[in-house]
Amino acid sequence: MATDHTDIGQSRDVYPLLPLRGLLVYPSMVLHFDVGRPRSVRALEEAMVEDNLIVLASQEDGQIDEPTTSDLYRVGTLARVKQMLKLPNGTIRVLVEGLCRAEILAFVTEDEFFSVRVHTQEEQDEVKVTPELQAMMRSVSQQFEQYVKLSRKLDQETYAAVVDINHPGRFADAVASHLPLKVREKQDILEAFSIQERLERLLQILSDEREVLELERKIHQRVRKQMEKTQKEYYLREQMKAIQRELGDKEGRTAEIEELREKLAKKKLPPAVYEKVDKEIARLERIPTASAEGTVARTYIDWVLALPWTEKARTQADIARAERILNEEHFGLEKVKERILEFIAVQALTEKQSGPIICLAGPPGVGKTSLARSIAKSLKRPFVRVSLGGVRDDAEIRGHRRTYIGAMPGRILQGMRQAEVVNPVFLLDEIDKMASDFRGDPAAAMLEVLDPEQNATFSDHYIEMPYDLSDVLFITTANNVFQIPGPLRDRMEVIQLSGYTELEKLHIARDHLLPRQRERHALKGDKMRIGEDVLMELIRHYTREAGVRQLDRTIATVCRKVARMIAAGESKRVVVTSTILRSFLGPHRYEFGEIEEVDQVGVVAGLAWTELGGDMLTVEVSVIPGSGKVVLTGHLGDVMKESAQTALSYVRSRAKALHIPVDFHEKVDLHIHVPEGAIPKDGPSAGITMATAIASALTNCKVRRDVAMTGEITLRGRVLPIGGLKEKSLAAHRAGIRTIVIPKGNVKDLEDVPSVVREQVEFRPVSHMDEVLAIALVDNPLDVPAKGLDHSAWFADLSESGSYGGGEAHQ
Ligand code: ADP
Repeated sequence: MATDHTDIGQSRDVYPLLPLRGLLVYPSMVLHFDVGRPRSVRALEEAMVEDNLIVLASQEDGQIDEPTTSDLYRVGTLARVKQMLKLPNGTIRVLVEGLCRAEILAFVTEDEFFSVRVHTQEEQDEVKVTPELQAMMRSVSQQFEQYVKLSRKLDQETYAAVVDINHPGRFADAVASHLPLKVREKQDILEAFSIQERLERLLQILSDEREVLELERKIHQRVRKQMEKTQKEYYLREQMKAIQRELGDKEGRTAEIEELREKLAKKKLPPAVYEKVDKEIARLERIPTASAEGTVARTYIDWVLALPWTEKARTQADIARAERILNEEHFGLEKVKERILEFIAVQALTEKQSGPIICLAGPPGVGKTSLARSIAKSLKRPFVRVSLGGVRDDAEIRGHRRTYIGAMPGRILQGMRQAEVVNPVFLLDEIDKMASDFRGDPAAAMLEVLDPEQNATFSDHYIEMPYDLSDVLFITTANNVFQIPGPLRDRMEVIQLSGYTELEKLHIARDHLLPRQRERHALKGDKMRIGEDVLMELIRHYTREAGVRQLDRTIATVCRKVARMIAAGESKRVVVTSTILRSFLGPHRYEFGEIEEVDQVGVVAGLAWTELGGDMLTVEVSVIPGSGKVVLTGHLGDVMKESAQTALSYVRSRAKALHIPVDFHEKVDLHIHVPEGAIPKDGPSAGITMATAIASALTNCKVRRDVAMTGEITLRGRVLPIGGLKEKSLAAHRAGIRTIVIPKGNVKDLEDVPSVVREQVEFRPVSHMDEVLAIALVDNPLDVPAKGLDHSAWFADLSESGSYGGGEAHQ
């Protein structure tokens, strides 16, 4: 880039000026550009007329088309136009060579073209290179070298050409011309007339530029790494897919992961749960397909995704509707329905479970489950049922830790999964049948489930994250309330459902069970007819229960057989008569309920309470010659045995009044038997029954067959109240009993007794055993002086018949 400086004649100092846009020409620099603006073309022409010299000055703002004098920098470059070429589009391409810096002193013309008076500052060829300058040059070239290395725009050759320049001023200009600087910065260098200043400014710019480049490089690298990673992963995934496809494993892990991710994206989860699942999916991705650990992780993810976390059923509690549903689905149960409607009303107001948990208690088949189902229907909430019968390990409630093989969440979360929403009606069936043993106490876990204070963060060992049960409406059922662990029972409000009377069963069978079974067996219309008397026979002789479950099953059996007859073409419609019933179901299965056919000695109808409801229990007593032994048979519990002893002691204490030889206990043995030995019996309520039977046997007085009794006895013959009066009276009524002796203390319970029973049965409250005997015995030995009783004949009789009292021989 050697320049012919001698050509710059100092003869004149006015030159035409060409404004440059976004461009700056340094001295010693040769470059070409296009000129199109008329004033610039004019300036060029003017220059050509003279000595091809022209001043190039940059515009401060390159956007301006028609610059005025104030838009131009005051320092430019005097340059020589070396070539001009007219382009087809009318513009002119020029090749110029910068000669020296030119400071504009004044504008001479502005209109047609700019011409300026300048003060030119030629670079001296010989510059004294001081050590300082030398050092600065070296620094600049080092910085420039690094810059070139970092920059992708400059090559090594350019660098070599630049650093070859010995003249410090031209060197600085050359470096500046190669840097991608803004015009303002380039101008800065141009305006630095002193070489030292020029180098200093350059150093500053270079170090800034280098920093920017360094940053750029880092960003670029990061982006590239990221790109490479995604590309690599994509590539590997594709490869894996290809391999799986090759192996015939189309549904390989990749597809599985994708599917899980999709599911996760679709499901609404609390943030903590989302994160956990996300992590588990990422973990699963790394586990080899065939490994067992993969299955464990997969099952876990499936579980968490299947559980409802935020999904909620839109509930609606409309009391009128609820009442309609309850009445449609359940016959009778007025009090229970009343209480349930109150409960539903409260639910409607609070939404959350408030107050105690409802416990529907009663024997099997009385409609506990179906009532709970109706509650769910009334509230428009999904219904789930979990049976707690036989649960003895709290892991069954809370689940097993994932480390166990085949681990699963507990029954509560299993129920929630089934419910699919966070606010179902959740029936905990048979809560009284939970047991606790060394493996843990499920009752304690249940407490957490049912406690509104704690159940918002229920912890399941498997899921490992707190689960909110506070929107669930829990309802429990139990057969025997007293077997529910105490702390649990405290949280519950018990709604007792006792058994149905025969008449109620008949209604239920006719209006509910039969229509349902007809539908199931496609026996609508008149294909099958079954009269009420036949239904009653079915209830009485083929079922024995407090509820209607067995009845339902038996009706189903009948329907099945009828359906078969019709399907086999044996007949078009079947009228089920008593005979047909027998041919379907065999001979009568239960003969209970029949009262004894005649009054007998030593045979008394007692009443017992069992989980199946009430039942009638006959107590038989025989007197046998002997030495005062008392034999008790019939699978009696301890309390019942003691009660028998008490009854006997009472009779002994009243021996005189009853006209029995006071020493009878030395001469005879007593055998007390309660039939149906297979059924365990216990409780004190057979006390008066046994006392009556003993008294009857010893006095040889017959007992009225239509009287039944229940009551505890004391040594002095007082009669104490008992439990389960409703069930017992139902059983007695069913048996055809017309008089029931009850303790006075139980009179208050009579209001629970169904009105049919109260209408047809006479209840005789008593407070002393003497009153019982007066009612139950045909001839009361207490008033009638031992009519026809010759105790000396005992032995004679016994020698003939082998027994005394309770035997057929005395009728
Ligand atoms: P539980 O849960 O008490 O053992 P379920 O609810 O399973 O009894 O009832 C057994 C069957 O008897 C169900 O089909 C139910 O619909 C029917 N049922 C029970 N009580 C009544 C009733 N009062 N009215 C109509 N159907 C009843």
